[in-house]
Amino acid sequence: MAYIIAEPCIGTKDTACVDACPVDCIHPKKDTSYEDGRPGIDQVDQLFIDPVECIDCGACVPVCPVAAIFALDDLPEKWQGYIEKNANYVTGGKFQPDTYRAA
Ligand code: SF4
Repeated sequence: MAYIIAEPCIGTKDTACVDACPVDCIHPKKDTSYEDGRPGIDQVDQLFIDPVECIDCGACVPVCPVAAIFALDDLPEKWQGYIEKNANYVTGGKFQPDTYRAA
């Protein structure tokens, strides 16, 4: 299981969650360019959680100002597509250029 960032993040991209995450699995980070070619924070419309690295601690949930982060079991039906969207950005710390689609 992993936590999922959904639609409310779009256009917000507050990075309090990045700072709160103990395993550094929320991307892209501010002022960071990635060697594997993944889009940086200015090129994406929202942040994403790496489903492999996430340890389900929930620390990111209360710090999100727009309540965009959900445990998988609590993700509203209308936002189920965000499961794939989060995973497609980065899985196991490795960007998947074939699956990622910028919105
Ligand atoms: Fe990071 Fe914990 Fe949030 Fe997963 S649930 S993204 S490990 S802060």
